[in-house]
Amino acid sequence: MMIEDNFRKVVPYVPGEQPKDNDVIKLNTNENPYPPSPSVLDALAKVDNNSFRKYPDPDVTDLVQAIADYHHFKKENVFVGVGSDDVLAMCFLSFFNSGKEILFPDVSYAFYKVWADLFQIKYREVPLDENFNIVPKDYMVDNGGIVFPNPNAPTGLTLPLSDIEDIIIENKHKVVIVDEAYIDFGGETALSLINKYDNLIVTRTFSKSRSMAGMRIGYCIGNEQLISVLNSVKFSFNSYTMSDVAIKCGVASINDDTYFKNIVAKIIDTREKTKESLTKLGFTFLDSSSNFIFAKHNEISGEELFNALKENKIFVRHFNAPRINDYLRITIGTEREMEELISFLDSYISGKRG
Ligand SMILES: *Cc1c(COP(=O)(O)O)cnc(C)c1O
Repeated sequence: MMIEDNFRKVVPYVPGEQPKDNDVIKLNTNENPYPPSPSVLDALAKVDNNSFRKYPDPDVTDLVQAIADYHHFKKENVFVGVGSDDVLAMCFLSFFNSGKEILFPDVSYAFYKVWADLFQIKYREVPLDENFNIVPKDYMVDNGGIVFPNPNAPTGLTLPLSDIEDIIIENKHKVVIVDEAYIDFGGETALSLINKYDNLIVTRTFSKSRSMAGMRIGYCIGNEQLISVLNSVKFSFNSYTMSDVAIKCGVASINDDTYFKNIVAKIIDTREKTKESLTKLGFTFLDSSSNFIFAKHNEISGEELFNALKENKIFVRHFNAPRINDYLRITIGTEREMEELISFLDSYISGKRG
């Protein structure tokens, strides 16, 4: 026996690069280019030594209640965690225990596969169709649960609510998780189905639309029974998942809806302008409803553009994976950042054409 025989073997998720250099244009991890609401910074300024000295509220009551009120649910319908990655991991542990394979799209959030492997859950990656759409009937087969993002990442495409409802109806005795990390930027939320179906979980995050990726706040909404299972699993793992500072900042963000809606509208506006500019430069892309655009150029490879951009200190995401390796996933930054991106691409592409 070797010591290595005792070790868990996993292939970890690879997050987008976080360069130390502040002087790059960072369009690679779908962060929000704008600051969080000023009331979040006010809440932070009021934090005193109690937030450090004492254990935080294990039930995260204030944040759970704020989220419940915001979406018109009861606090028994809400579960919070350290980013939606934590919430999703807890969901995998809590709901995918039948021994049957779970289903998720082949082109999707790469973390699903990593959690399934970590928790030794069987899975099958269901191919998107030739236009990168989810095909609902592919999810109406024997399975041990379903998870997909809406809008999907990295495609940015949405599935109509009626299709989501069909998937939920056809899978009554399994849990269906809809990962709404990007729903504030487009698409129809499945929250309206929570009170209608007992097998639906909708996950959300403060990381993208609320400019709080660094605070690590995520949540999910579901019927009381599902949320109580999640809480039992969480309290079997770590009672104090969220710091008091994160809780206070999260509540402050929820309470400033005007600022939030403004920022989201600004990003959507910039996204639509960027689509027009990319089209003029010879890019084709999927019609994104999120805060990123998944685009490929009609002459130049994804890898080449990725490297050229990086050399010029513009970071985007490139996935070296089948079907998508000619695409770049470009996060929507500020107007000025997108202008710089477009102007660099313009000169690079015309330079190549000579
Ligand atoms: C960013 C992202 C998440 C995780 O976000 P957190 O920062 O952990 O809240 C989950 N799902 C998808 C599809 C994402 O893109």
